[in-house]
Amino acid sequence: MTNVTISPGVLDISAISSTVQDYLLLIYVMERDGEPIVGSRLAELLGVTPPTVTNTLKRMTRDGLITMSQEGTHLTPQGWTAARTIMTRHMLMEWMMIQTLPWSKLHGEAHHLEHAISAMTESALMEQLGRPQTCPHGNPLPGCEQAVAHWKPLTEIEAGRRVTIRRIHELAEENAALLEFLEKHRLMPSATATVSEILPFNQTITLDVDGQLVTLGNAVAKYIFVEVHP
Ligand SMILES: [Zn+2]
Ligand SMILES: [Zn+2]
Repeated sequence: MTNVTISPGVLDISAISSTVQDYLLLIYVMERDGEPIVGSRLAELLGVTPPTVTNTLKRMTRDGLITMSQEGTHLTPQGWTAARTIMTRHMLMEWMMIQTLPWSKLHGEAHHLEHAISAMTESALMEQLGRPQTCPHGNPLPGCEQAVAHWKPLTEIEAGRRVTIRRIHELAEENAALLEFLEKHRLMPSATATVSEILPFNQTITLDVDGQLVTLGNAVAKYIFVEVHP
C-alpha cells in the first residue's frame, strides 16, 4: 500500500480505494453536520463489523485522510477535499441516472459509478446538468449547504401543518429498504403532505399523503426535511 498523496490542484481520487471512498462520504456528512464520528455508527451504516471499521480507520489515518485522537476522529484537510470531490461526483451520477432508474435505486448505483469519474467528466457533467445545488434526494452539493439550510426535520413540525418534502438526509440514503418505502408511498422531494398525527409516547409521526396515511418512526422522520406551508 502506498500513501495517498493529494496535492492541491492534482486531486487523485483514483488512488483511494472504493471502500475508503465510501467511508470518506459518511465521515464527511457527520463532520459537516457536527456529529461525532463513532466507529459503531459507521459499522451500522456500512453494514460491516466494528473491527473492520477500526482497521479501515487505521488505514485512513496512515494515509493522511483522517486523524484519530482523544478528541475524536476528524478529516484532515486532504480528507475533507477528497470527500467533497467524491460527494460531488456521487451526486452528479445520481442526476445522470434519474431518467434511467427508479429514484430509490439512484444512490446505490451512484456508489458504483462515483469512483470511476475523472475531473474532466465531473466538470462537463456539472455544466450539462445546470450546476445543481442538491442531489435528487435534496441533499446539498458541497459548497451549496445554504440551499437546504431553511428546511426543517419532520420531527420539529406540529400536527395539522401542510408541508412539502424537500430532503431525505444522506445517512437515510444509505438505507435502501427505507428509500424503497419512501418511493412506494411517494414521500420524495417536492411531494406534499399533511402532518396528521404525532404520538410522542409511540415515537411516531403519521402523514396524510393525498388521502393515504403513512406512519414513520421518529428515527426516520428526523432524516426527512420539509418546507412548512404558511
Ligand atoms: Zn446518494
Ligand atoms: Zn442523493
